[in-house]
Amino acid sequence: RDKSRVTIVGSGNWGSVAAKLIASNTLKLTAFHDEVRMWVYEETLPSGEKLTDVINKTNENVKYLPGIKLGKNVVADPDIENAVKEANMLVFVTPHQFMEGICKRLVGKIKADVEAISLIKGMEVKPEGPCMISSLISQQLGVNCCVLMGANIANEIAVEKFSEATIGYRENRVTAEKWVQLFYTPYFSVTAVQDVEGVELCGTLKNVVALGAGFVDGLEMGNNTKAAIMRLGLIEMKAFCKLLFSSVKDSTFFESCGVADLITTCLGGRNRKVAEAFAKNGGNRSFDELEAEMLQGQKLQGVSTAREVYEVLSHRGWLQLFPLLATVHEISIGRLPPSAIVNYNEPKAV
Ligand code: NAD
Ligand code: 13P
Repeated sequence: RDKSRVTIVGSGNWGSVAAKLIASNTLKLTAFHDEVRMWVYEETLPSGEKLTDVINKTNENVKYLPGIKLGKNVVADPDIENAVKEANMLVFVTPHQFMEGICKRLVGKIKADVEAISLIKGMEVKPEGPCMISSLISQQLGVNCCVLMGANIANEIAVEKFSEATIGYRENRVTAEKWVQLFYTPYFSVTAVQDVEGVELCGTLKNVVALGAGFVDGLEMGNNTKAAIMRLGLIEMKAFCKLLFSSVKDSTFFESCGVADLITTCLGGRNRKVAEAFAKNGGNRSFDELEAEMLQGQKLQGVSTAREVYEVLSHRGWLQLFPLLATVHEISIGRLPPSAIVNYNEPKAV
C-alpha cells in the first residue's frame, strides 16, 4: 500500500507545533511517508537570512516557535504549489484571513483524492451568509475537510505538556481515524466526533469571548467577573451554533474544543493578553497597533471574528439575542468603552 504524504500549509506558532507532532508520528507509523513538507510564508529575518533557509538549517522556526526542534524530517518550502503537489493529506493552519487567497492559489494544483483538515479558528462572511473555513476549503478545492480544535495553546504543547483535542468529521469515520493517528501522542490526546460545524464554531467563537475576558483582566475586575463572562460566553456560543446549524450536538460543548478551549484561551491566550492591554490603555491604542507591538508577527483571530460574527448578527436581526458577542465587537472598534463588558447584563422583568 502506498504511504500517505503530508503537507502542512502554514508555519506560525501553532503550525510549527503541528509540524512537530505530525513529524514525530510519520517517523513511527508505516502508513505515512517520513517527510513532512511545511509551506512557509517567506520572510527575511533581521539577520538578512530567509526564514525557510534557517528552518531547514537549524530545524527550528526561530521566529514563530524559537527553541523547539521540529524534527529533521520537516522540510520547509516557500513555494506553495511545490509544497502541496505530492501531498495526499493537507493540514491547513494559517490565520483565517489568508485562507481565501491561499485556496485560490491552490485550485487545480493538488491531487484529486486529497484529504484535508483545518486547524484554523475563524470564519468568512459572504453576502449569502457565514462560511466556515473548512467549508471554504471544501468548496474551493473540491476536497473533504475535517477540523481539529481544542484547548491547545501552542507553546504548552511544544514543550510536551499534556492536552486534549477534538477532531470534527462529517461522514467518513475511517478518514477521521487516520487524522487521529497522525496527531495523537501521549501528551496530545485526540478524540473524533461527528460534528464538523460544532467543533469549528466552538474554536472560532471562543476567541471573541477571550477578548471579553481580557477586557475584564485589563480593568482588574477579578476572577468572578471573568467566570461570568466565560459562562455567558458559552451560552451565547451554544445558541449561535444552534441557530446557524441545527445539527450541532450538545455533547460537543463538553469536548476539548468546547468548554476546555474557552477556559484555556480566557486564561492564557493571545486574544486575552492583547485585549487586557487594550483595556489598560482605555481603548486609546488600536488592536492592530497592540498586536504588532506585542505578538512579533503572530496574529489575533478574535478581533476580526468579533466583526464577522457582528455582521451575521446584524444581518439576521439577532443582535439583541447575543449581547456579549455584540458588545465585544463594539468595544474593540471603540464604539463602547471596555467597562461596557459588564453593562449589558441588566435583570429582565419576569
Ligand atoms: P501565528 O499567528 O503564530 O502566525 C502568523 C502566521 O501568518 C505566520 O506563519 C506568518 O508567516 C503568516 N502570514 C503572515 N502574513 C501572511 C500572508 N499574507 N499570507 C499567508 N500567511 C501569512 O499563526 P498560528 O498560531 O499558527 O495560527 C494559525 C491558526 O491556528 C489560527 O487560526 C489560530 O487561531 C489557530 N490556533 C493557534 C493556536 C496557538 O496557540 N498559536 C492554538 C490553536 C489554534
Ligand atoms: P489565542 O489565539 O488567543 O492564543 O488562542 C489559542 C488557542 O486557540 C488555544 O486553543
